[in-house]
Amino acid sequence: MYLSFDIGGTNMRLATSSDGETFAASKIIPTPKDFNEGMKTLKQTADELSHGEKIIGIAGGVAGPLDKGKTMLVTSPNISGWIQKPLKLKLEKNFGCQIILENDTVMGGIGEAVKGAGIGKEVVGYIAIGTGVGGKRIVDGKISVDSSNFEPGHQIIMPDGNLCNCGGKGHLEPYVSGSYFEKMYGQKGEDITDPKIWDEISRYLAIGLTNTTVHWTPDIIILGGGVSKSIPLEKVQAYLAEFLTIFPQAPEIVKATLGHHAGLYGALHLLTNN
Ligand SMILES: [Zn+2]
Repeated sequence: MYLSFDIGGTNMRLATSSDGETFAASKIIPTPKDFNEGMKTLKQTADELSHGEKIIGIAGGVAGPLDKGKTMLVTSPNISGWIQKPLKLKLEKNFGCQIILENDTVMGGIGEAVKGAGIGKEVVGYIAIGTGVGGKRIVDGKISVDSSNFEPGHQIIMPDGNLCNCGGKGHLEPYVSGSYFEKMYGQKGEDITDPKIWDEISRYLAIGLTNTTVHWTPDIIILGGGVSKSIPLEKVQAYLAEFLTIFPQAPEIVKATLGHHAGLYGALHLLTNN
């Protein structure tokens, strides 16, 4: 039996799979703030879901960047109690099986690429737009090998533009992510109904996706994350077609289809395709 998990700032999701393709049982629980408490809860929930059957592999995403060896979180604004804690080591000790850890956005991207909106596509660009902006390039169902994390949210789309959380100016994130809407438009993303505002946001996003396209040359760009649900795709696609003059055709832009399960599917894929 395989175990997939997705540890977010608010909730953690766990799911077991017997066939490596579908989930047998799953559960959502609040993420404990304390790391040791988290490890205890994870073990208890896994035992409950697996009904005593042996777990032969575990993979999961966690909310934040991991160290080079993918063994622990190096930073995380939402689960600060888990930073620099030996996550992989503890899981190995508690379960005695193979453990694969990834950043949660990356896991979501793999899930969407192989089981969701990207099925059948060779080169997938996954961009997650929520409180921040993250992303990953997935080729043939595999995460591209990189020297550090991709940070598409921190590409410059406007010289000397809006101040970003990272300290930089004019980055994509302060133009399209949920945490900046109130500052820019005086409203939360879910309350913005003015099509002119969404047109503006789409235009900013399309500038970013133009850069994504010339760097990653994806067959398809999948937009995930909470804010992506409100973004008018046809506007983004039209702006992208206008900006992207070097290629005869812009990649298809679609929305993610697996919702909160994307990371669990990505984790299961890594377990069964390694
Ligand atoms: Zn930035």
